[in-house]
Amino acid sequence: MIAGKTMEAWLDSHPLIGELIALRETSWFNPGVAPSAEALGDVGLSAADVADASARLERFASYIQRVFPETAASRGIIESGVRRLPALQAKLSEGRAADAGGQLWLKMDSHLPISGSIKARGGIYEVLKHAEDLALAGGLLQAGDDYAKLDSDAARAFFSGYKIAVGSTGNLGLSIGIMSAKLGFQATVHMSADARQWKKDKLRAHGVTVVEYASDYSIAVAEGRKQAQSDPLCHFVDDENSTNLFLGYAVAAERLRGQLAAAGVVVDKEHPLFVYLPCGVGGGPGGVAFGLKLAFGDAAHCVFAEPTHSPCMLLGVYTDKHDAVAVQDFGIDNATAADGLAVGRASGFVGKAMRRLIDGYYTVSDDNLFRLLALLEQSEGLRLEPSALAGVPGMLRVLDEAQGYRARMGLDARRLANATHLVWGTGGSMVPPQEMEKYLAKGRQLLAG
Ligand SMILES: *Cc1c(COP(=O)(O)O)cnc(C)c1O
Repeated sequence: MIAGKTMEAWLDSHPLIGELIALRETSWFNPGVAPSAEALGDVGLSAADVADASARLERFASYIQRVFPETAASRGIIESGVRRLPALQAKLSEGRAADAGGQLWLKMDSHLPISGSIKARGGIYEVLKHAEDLALAGGLLQAGDDYAKLDSDAARAFFSGYKIAVGSTGNLGLSIGIMSAKLGFQATVHMSADARQWKKDKLRAHGVTVVEYASDYSIAVAEGRKQAQSDPLCHFVDDENSTNLFLGYAVAAERLRGQLAAAGVVVDKEHPLFVYLPCGVGGGPGGVAFGLKLAFGDAAHCVFAEPTHSPCMLLGVYTDKHDAVAVQDFGIDNATAADGLAVGRASGFVGKAMRRLIDGYYTVSDDNLFRLLALLEQSEGLRLEPSALAGVPGMLRVLDEAQGYRARMGLDARRLANATHLVWGTGGSMVPPQEMEKYLAKGRQLLAG
């Protein structure tokens, strides 16, 4: 029995599960999408909460700029650029009417400073929030202070009395570990078996304790949570449930709105914005999507992308069982080369809160992630890690869907011709060159074959 039903009954009531089990690339457009004015109320967080997170990041900017000089150009604000992908779009659209589907863009979280992935948003935000809470309560900071004073031996001595722990497949651990260690915290990262050696090495070089597990992400999180619970001085960053992580991600959308406006990109009902977000446990894409709905309303269409071997969010939302089911319950192995996406059980918080706000979900094979990795490098000269390519197929999934989604959403040919398709490139700039060469070689070989 799986969540109260036999496998046979599940396949009967939810036929797409058969596609997932067969590891075939699949798309599911959510028939339950509701107008954002109505569905934003499901989340339990508001625009004021996102504005509060944004203001907190502003307060920390003088400190961030001091301790991470690579953020000087943006005055201590951790943000990535956007750019068009005309050559990749031409490659992907071979054989189609020119510009039938609008324009393809990339959000370059792959190049975010400090940890080189989308986790530099939520992960770093949660550490800063915790540090601020402690510092205000302990008298180290007063309201109105310049937070640059946290770059001092006194502040580091203060934070060294506290611990921060997290369970991670890699990138969240990098963000939390590097930020925590910089402030002076004792940081522990509980890492799943699939985490890359270079990430563990980098963390240890920053003075972070790395605990390795032979099992997958969910176990690493559970172990980390258990150890933290027995220690009142330890803050556990709960990737499966944290609203602070979620809010840290959500801040991205308001900034994106400014970037698109500056680039002359119009987003409104007649000029829809599609955003394709690689999804692991769901906090990153969920938080960004929440921000997008606040910033753009129903003009923003959010679609999540997962590996064929780890479709936890698609499975959870499609069955409406959320974190009560794992891909392993259906015999799917959760084995993927896509770092950050190797998650078998989705966040219950995100899947439920965002159930009526996410337009669709699709899966991509690892081989296609590698092909796209090589194709992006060939066409645009950009190097991303495999997981960060998951958003690339999204545009064609939308243009080719046959589930009645476009008609239901009023996405006619004229609107689609005006559309912006934004691939959220979630990581890659910190992958060591020799690792990247291996990824590229694999992708080129698959393209040639
Ligand atoms: C973590 C991660 C994601 C997905 O974020 P979740 O919060 O786990 O859903 C996507 N891409 C990369 C590179 C990541 O590290």
